[in-house]
Amino acid sequence: MNYEGDIIRPPSEAFSIILQATVGCSHNRCTFCGAYRDRSFRLKEEETVEADLAFAAEYCRRQKTLFLADGNGLAMPQARLVSLLARIRERLPWVRRVSLYANARDILRRSVDELRQLKGLGMSRLYMGLETGHDPTLAAIAKGSDSREMIAAGQRVREAGIFLSVSVLLGIAGRRDSQAHARATAAVLNAMRPNQVAALTLMLLVNTPLADAWRQGNFEMPDRHDLLRELRSLLVDLDLERAQFQANHASNYFELDGRLSRDKIQMIALVDQALAGTVALKPEYRRAL
Ligand code: SF4
Repeated sequence: MNYEGDIIRPPSEAFSIILQATVGCSHNRCTFCGAYRDRSFRLKEEETVEADLAFAAEYCRRQKTLFLADGNGLAMPQARLVSLLARIRERLPWVRRVSLYANARDILRRSVDELRQLKGLGMSRLYMGLETGHDPTLAAIAKGSDSREMIAAGQRVREAGIFLSVSVLLGIAGRRDSQAHARATAAVLNAMRPNQVAALTLMLLVNTPLADAWRQGNFEMPDRHDLLRELRSLLVDLDLERAQFQANHASNYFELDGRLSRDKIQMIALVDQALAGTVALKPEYRRAL
């Protein structure tokens, strides 16, 4: 397969065919994100994608899922994505799920019917980075959408019958707004009703504006206990049914994985144990993105 740069994919796509149809991120402005700062966004050349499809058709017959990299595959024009999904279906008929990263703007550019068209061609899962539902923080991190747009985008994906996985970022509002971030994020998730919520924990990357703000004293990183209290408040305020909640990313100090609302009380109890010091937290050197 032809890959440019580091390939980033959600943990649940670990066994997927990774087809890099786009390079970089068309937004590329989030102040905490260092993933694609060295690259300009572009659609991969058709002949390169064709060669990768031919390779996958020959060597990836045991992989039943496919992830379209890079950072926001839904930035592809609708016609191009329709054509690509049709070719994936034709060349790799055993693939039962195609998924990609999507931001609110690229979702809202599409009608429910256009999203349904993509779902009908196999795009049955979208990963959306909410990070926070706290509007001052969404503006501060240059996420490109406010909470109202995030909710509308999430609801549109659900209306189209597409599995929606939403990631949130513990710590992203800094210490002062930590609790406001937790409450606002829960409210946005409750309105979106995603199938899956993934809570990651902020790690400051040297090549990012947020790390610069931290060095200049303009951003205060919450400590581990602040982050656990943030996670607890988020869980307490979440009112979701049949949704998976995961805080088991390599960046987290503490691992949680359960179903909402079924496991909510047990998950809060585990966070309380961590706050009380009876559950070991991951040492700093073992955290990663
Ligand atoms: S967080 Fe996502 S949308 Fe923001 S710059 Fe990084 S890849 Fe792009």
